[in-house]
Amino acid sequence: MEHLLATASKSGLDLEDLRFAQIMDRADPLARLRNEFAIPTVNQATGRDAADGNGLCVYLCGNSLGLMPKQSRRILNEEMDEWATKGVMGHFHHSKGRPWVGYRSQIVEKMAPIVGAEPVEVGVMNTLTTNLHLLLAAFYRPTDQRYKILIESKAFPSDHYAVESQIKWHGRPADALLLAEPRPGEHTLRTEDILSLIRQEGASIAVVMLSGVQYYTGQVFEMDRITAAAKAAGCVVGWDVTHAAGNVPLSLHDWGVDFACWCSYKYLNSGPGGISCFFVHERYAHDADLQRLTGWWGHDAESRFDMTNQFVPGVGAAGFEVSNTPILVAATLLGSLDVFSKTSMEELCKKSVLLTAYLEYLLQTRIGNRVEIITPGEHRGAQLSLLFASEIFEHVFGMLMSAGVICDERKPNCIRLAPVPLYNTFSDVWWAVDVIHAALYTSRD
Ligand SMILES: *Cc1c(COP(=O)(O)O)cnc(C)c1O
Repeated sequence: MEHLLATASKSGLDLEDLRFAQIMDRADPLARLRNEFAIPTVNQATGRDAADGNGLCVYLCGNSLGLMPKQSRRILNEEMDEWATKGVMGHFHHSKGRPWVGYRSQIVEKMAPIVGAEPVEVGVMNTLTTNLHLLLAAFYRPTDQRYKILIESKAFPSDHYAVESQIKWHGRPADALLLAEPRPGEHTLRTEDILSLIRQEGASIAVVMLSGVQYYTGQVFEMDRITAAAKAAGCVVGWDVTHAAGNVPLSLHDWGVDFACWCSYKYLNSGPGGISCFFVHERYAHDADLQRLTGWWGHDAESRFDMTNQFVPGVGAAGFEVSNTPILVAATLLGSLDVFSKTSMEELCKKSVLLTAYLEYLLQTRIGNRVEIITPGEHRGAQLSLLFASEIFEHVFGMLMSAGVICDERKPNCIRLAPVPLYNTFSDVWWAVDVIHAALYTSRD
């Protein structure tokens, strides 16, 4: 916030002035990255054909589906050409130097620094929920004493179902599903409450499996402290970092997390249904005794094609992969990771903090008490979750969408806005708040 205030006073402009946002955009060292993405026009995004709809939309939905990196289309087309001209030989001899047989390693090298992992700790396969099941198959080993799984009470439905069904699959009682709940009247979880739940129930918890960033509230959990406390209580610790990867700083290795997984189509822009990645800590890299569900791609790469039917796990996360890499979805992720390689999480987070603080400031000063921001002021990434009174909620959301401010609604009355530092601008933020302001203060009452 200090940086925004200092820039405002130097320029002699109010933060509420669009020209202030434009000054911030001109000074933005990451502004060049916006051109790496295809940004829909208002007409394209809203499916209309309005005379004034040919300008670019304000896309604040990168927490749900990131925009398309132009590189992704290029690389995808190259893989199609490769398939057309090389057939099966593309696995080994690739005209762009990306033989399909080793494709995973190219992704892993670029993905590891984004999540604070060593390359040996990162794998690429499937989609997220499938990976949750595969990882729980290896890491949820319930005993009569230690059989519970701790998740947050309003976890993303897919995570809730996955954990609940794992518990049933293992024939464990329903009290094995342990839910961390916010205090009455509060929206977000307090770290102290999570830690005390772990202290109380620790001896009966097999796995602590929270999300790194809560999808609904945008709260970033204190992953370092929670991991340390859960490890001290003897639990296995897994994180679903889907809303955290590419959004906030992560140090999965240094925190000592056992496993983690994330999809890549949100802040990581790999496209609809994009491939998921996962993390298994280096401490298991050579642990061939760790039971897991296997397939040929997890077999040690050197001898995979010997066809002996004697399973020898690959080292690290590679040993948890099951099928051969789906190249076409891996290609679009590779395109996005190329863009990430042009910056760093440190730089991205620096801009992200400013963008989100600017959004918060404008909401507070221009919308005031007609919006409730439930995302914490401190522990958050590139998302603010806004609650509106139910009688105006649909009106506000409708106005945003028809003005070409693309965001999402979560029933009953929450709108999530995610200014993404890779492609969003300070002007985007200004326009979004201006539309909310118009919806509330000019077009009605
Ligand atoms: C987006 C998201 C999912 C989606 O799961 P898929 O298996 O990719 O369909 C699951 N969990 C969380 C926490 C998410 O944010």
